[in-house]
Amino acid sequence: MNLLGAFHRGHRRRGLAAITGPVLRPADAGYTAEIAGFNPAVARRPGIVVGARSEDDVVAAVVGAGADGLPVGIKGAGHGFCADPAAPVLLSTRRLDAVVVDPRARTARVGAGATWGQVLAAAAPHGLTALVPSSTRVGVAGYTLGGGVGLLARRYGFAADHLQRLRLVTADGRAHEIDGDRAPELFWALRGAGRNGFGVVTELEFALFPLVRLYGGGIVWPAAAAADVLHAWREWAPTLPDELGTSVALLRVPRDAGWPAPLHDQTVVHLRFAGADVEATTGDALLSPMRALGTPLLDEVGELSPTATDAVHREPTAPAPVHDGGAALRDLPTTAVDALLAAADVDVASPLTLVELRALGGALSRAAAVPAAVAGRSAAYALHVRGRAAVPAPADRPGAVPGATTGVADAVAAVVDAVGPWSLGGPLPTFAGAGEPVELWSPRDQARLHLLRQAVDPGGMFAAPSPA
Ligand SMILES: Cc1cc2nc3c(=O)[nH]c(=O)nc-3n(C[C@H](O)[C@H](O)[C@H](O)COP(=O)(O)OP(=O)(O)OC[C@H]3O[C@@H](n4cnc5c(N)ncnc54)[C@H](O)[C@@H]3O)c2cc1C
Repeated sequence: MNLLGAFHRGHRRRGLAAITGPVLRPADAGYTAEIAGFNPAVARRPGIVVGARSEDDVVAAVVGAGADGLPVGIKGAGHGFCADPAAPVLLSTRRLDAVVVDPRARTARVGAGATWGQVLAAAAPHGLTALVPSSTRVGVAGYTLGGGVGLLARRYGFAADHLQRLRLVTADGRAHEIDGDRAPELFWALRGAGRNGFGVVTELEFALFPLVRLYGGGIVWPAAAAADVLHAWREWAPTLPDELGTSVALLRVPRDAGWPAPLHDQTVVHLRFAGADVEATTGDALLSPMRALGTPLLDEVGELSPTATDAVHREPTAPAPVHDGGAALRDLPTTAVDALLAAADVDVASPLTLVELRALGGALSRAAAVPAAVAGRSAAYALHVRGRAAVPAPADRPGAVPGATTGVADAVAAVVDAVGPWSLGGPLPTFAGAGEPVELWSPRDQARLHLLRQAVDPGGMFAAPSPA
């Protein structure tokens, strides 16, 4: 704690007491709530957490930490992996949550701490929507900087491709306006590889899209139908037009997110489907081959309110300790589905709670209008596997994922390994669990990112994985 003592002394010496947001230490009221993330299995225990209320607060905290050589972690809505759980200073951006929609330009200017729910609520009255993820509780910054594969991704592509401007505070304490003209190289890097190693993004501006109607939802069958549904989905998903997005999951139904009580804790197969501006008759016709598979336990697909996107996946809303993993797949032949089914035991006795396949392709496979560092454009499917971690990580071992040494890590790895022959070598970074994978960036892009990170953060204040 000597270093943190120095931070505090420096804080006073350099007049950094001007930070208007809370500056909390472990014994302070509010500290636990400020550091809490959606996955309590990844334990942080920073010596200081700064709850920034403004970009000036971010600058002051970065200058203070920099003067004492302290690494800084960043937390937005807390739904992501932790680039550096052991960082002694944590910058919490959740109060930077202003959302300004420009209906004429069809853009949103958003503080880095905003969630997608806030953006949707601000855009919908103008007949606009955003490239939202499967849960609107996810943070705009973590999602977009890591790529962002949303419900409308096959139609519009990665969320990062549609970023138009950012504000970034770098390790030297300077705030920069970043766009394709002013800083093309950083603009490239932040759009897809921006979650660590560059600095604190304080504001993002990105495109919104007109939305007349949203058609979508989920269909649930009992686990006994898993093989039929997955094999049928494998053949059906590639026939859909780019306007439609779909995923399918073997799922242990949480006691959460509006799931009907009779389904709680049951293992089911969950088909998800979403399309913007798709007439119900068209959507119904496209879905008919899947509906023909048999009587479901639940069929919720239909016209949705533009802000009701959470009804498609029904992601958990309450924090729970999890261990997750995944893989970007180039292909999904019958043998891959068989291998997945053999490894994916989402039964009540198994630690696994989710084995999900998302269909990619469409606009996701096309290059952005302005080059972006997004990784994984050649992936046809994203596999995401989640299991329940047994106990919260001990406070004295920040970053420890307890399940990593028990059954859950093995169970997750077994599913990922089962589809190894069809994997591109790692997960899509946007869905990464603990730690950011680098496998999907080409060696050339890894080298380019490495050089850039060294240039903007030579002292390594903001964690970056090795070697990218
Ligand atoms: C329930 C759920 C559903 C999800 N659905 C999807 C989905 O549909 N599609 C998809 O692509 N992903 C999805 N994700 C993954 C999610 O997009 C990422 O985990 C994302 O990083 C979460 O962002 P956050 O701001 O909420 O997380 P945080 O935990 O707050 O941040 C994650 C990391 O992002 C970086 N970061 C955050 N804010 C900043 C900033 N201001 N400046 C610089 N770096 C920053 C930091 O490295 C931080 O450790 C989902 C995750 C969950 C838990």
